Amino acid sequence: MGDALAAYAASIRSCQLCREQPLKNPLPHEPRPVLRVSETARLLIASQAPGVRVHQTGLSFNDASGDRLRGWMGIDRDLFYDETQIAIVPMGFCFPGHDAKKGDLPPRPECRQHWHDGLFALMPQIEVILAIGRYAQDYHFARLGRPLPKRLRVDEIIRSSADYSPVTPRIIALPHPSWRNSGWIKRNPWFESEVLPPLRAAVASLTT
Ligand code: SF4
Repeated sequence: MGDALAAYAASIRSCQLCREQPLKNPLPHEPRPVLRVSETARLLIASQAPGVRVHQTGLSFNDASGDRLRGWMGIDRDLFYDETQIAIVPMGFCFPGHDAKKGDLPPRPECRQHWHDGLFALMPQIEVILAIGRYAQDYHFARLGRPLPKRLRVDEIIRSSADYSPVTPRIIALPHPSWRNSGWIKRNPWFESEVLPPLRAAVASLTT
């Protein structure tokens, strides 16, 4: 990894911002930032935030959501975790904790404010971004000069991301692969027939 990117990633991994200077409530546990970056990966998985299992293991998408995402991409764990080929950068690097209903809280905004722009400036080689969920979609489309209209629903963004995406890097919008979205996937069969084939083709063209 290049020196500048390695140093930047090390700074993120030792970040204590949400304990020491949180914007609102402090993070309810010790920070454990989880990300995978390199200066050679041409494919970026831009996700939301680690869940509790990823927080415990320190490995991105090391859960049922990851199994489903790997199925969508048509790849195995070995390739998925080859960070020389695939970078994984969530909008919040640390598990944000649970809300009153035991759902995951949204990604911490401190990450985006302090880290993301600088991190992506150090990875100009990225050619395709898999933008998972609204937080990543809003951030990456806006960062690349194509802010998404607020009125768009997630299903509209996913179905028409090719229309909004810049040419390079190309953004492919995806729903979160959580099993909680199984109903949405069933109700929207175009997702598997229209979105997954070009997604797999893009993954195959950027990896070996
Ligand atoms: S969530 Fe982001 S900003 Fe907050 S402590 Fe973790 S790495 Fe730092």
